[in-house]
Amino acid sequence: MGVCPPARTPLLRDNFTGPLHPRARPEVLTCTSWGAPIIWDGTFDPDVAQKEAVRQNLTVGLTVFAVGRYLEKYLERFLETAEQHFMVGQHVVYYVFTERPAAVPSLPLGPGRRLRVERVARERRWQDVSMARMRALHAALGGRLGREARFVLCMDVDQHFSGAFGPEALAESVAQLHAWHYRWPRRLLPFERDARSAAALGPGEGDFYYHAAVFGGSVAALRRLTAHCARGLRRDRARGLEARWHDESHLNKFFWLHKPAKLLSPEFCWSPDIGRRAEIRRPRLLWEPKEYALLRG
Ligand code: UDP
Ligand code: MN
Repeated sequence: MGVCPPARTPLLRDNFTGPLHPRARPEVLTCTSWGAPIIWDGTFDPDVAQKEAVRQNLTVGLTVFAVGRYLEKYLERFLETAEQHFMVGQHVVYYVFTERPAAVPSLPLGPGRRLRVERVARERRWQDVSMARMRALHAALGGRLGREARFVLCMDVDQHFSGAFGPEALAESVAQLHAWHYRWPRRLLPFERDARSAAALGPGEGDFYYHAAVFGGSVAALRRLTAHCARGLRRDRARGLEARWHDESHLNKFFWLHKPAKLLSPEFCWSPDIGRRAEIRRPRLLWEPKEYALLRG
């Protein structure tokens, strides 16, 4: 169920975003057609979110995969900046998935914050590493991670935090608007369109294009999401198919069928390569430069 009222009502709210102020950002879309808030800088009160999270005594999980060269290249900065900006003042449990637990940097963590390492197999192709995440996440959510955390955010490692990323980002299910695509006409969005794929969207289908670098929600919702995506990936593989954007295509299919309860504006996961945009006020996560030749070679 959505929480935004009709456009004329001045205030939107859910427990974490607090009273949303859509008029604070009249130049951007702050509510979806199904009533989910799209949170932009200035539309929510971070103190309300903070207090609500403390009141609920939440533990928030943050999962990240660092397999192969991605570990040395990105993990330390991702975690260091998460310590500065991610759910500061809350209980946090990081889950790092890697094939080399011993290589995970040891980092001083703030009070109430823990880091756990889960071993995963190293897939040969980078696409397979990316896709194998859904299965591994599903298993972890059914195990200790699912018992420890109330909400979980699942992120790519090739980015770093650059601003406060707090409990205002939490909801039953959370999707990230893709920085490169949020201004595109719907019909041009890069959904999987091959009807044979489990990730396929038909003509006219698809609300927004979501970025798989950030998604989240309650443990139960993420169990359903990861099960759906892992199943779709498996079915495609069995038929010799691979969706256009791999796990991201399946994620987009899931969020078409099961609308997210909250959307994060592109400020929450921004690519500096796009350059300055008036509506991007304070990026919370910044993509690292893509160095595919080095990483995927
Ligand atoms: N990943 C990894 N090792 C790899 C490939 C991928 O650890 O060899 C993980 C890592 O967390 C990465 C995510 O999978 O951020 C998605 O891959 P990538 O960031 O390369 O995809 P893109 O953002 O370009 O779609
Ligand atoms: Mn990435």
